[in-house]
Amino acid sequence: MDIDICPRCTNKIDPTDSFCRHCGIRVGEVAWYHTKIFVLASAFILLGPFALPLLLSSRDFTRNGKVFWSLAICAYTLGLVLLGAVIVARMYQYMIESALGR
Ligand SMILES: [Zn+2]
Repeated sequence: MDIDICPRCTNKIDPTDSFCRHCGIRVGEVAWYHTKIFVLASAFILLGPFALPLLLSSRDFTRNGKVFWSLAICAYTLGLVLLGAVIVARMYQYMIESALGR
């Protein structure tokens, strides 16, 4: 397989390019930890914003895709932090009220 020729449009591809400049398909191999599924799953289940370096260095996302998913991960993290703050505030309020015997 000649990696310097796009398999779809048969135009020449720069070996350092992740995507064909002519038709936009992904070219070259993507490591398992850079696949879309793994990056997004680890971001939303496990790592949160710590998965951003993985996302930004992945070749499996387009530039717009990286921007979109970065914002989505940040919004998701912010949502979790706010939810945690609300829960802590509720627990604190409950503790104060039971301490005062109401
Ligand atoms: Zn192409």
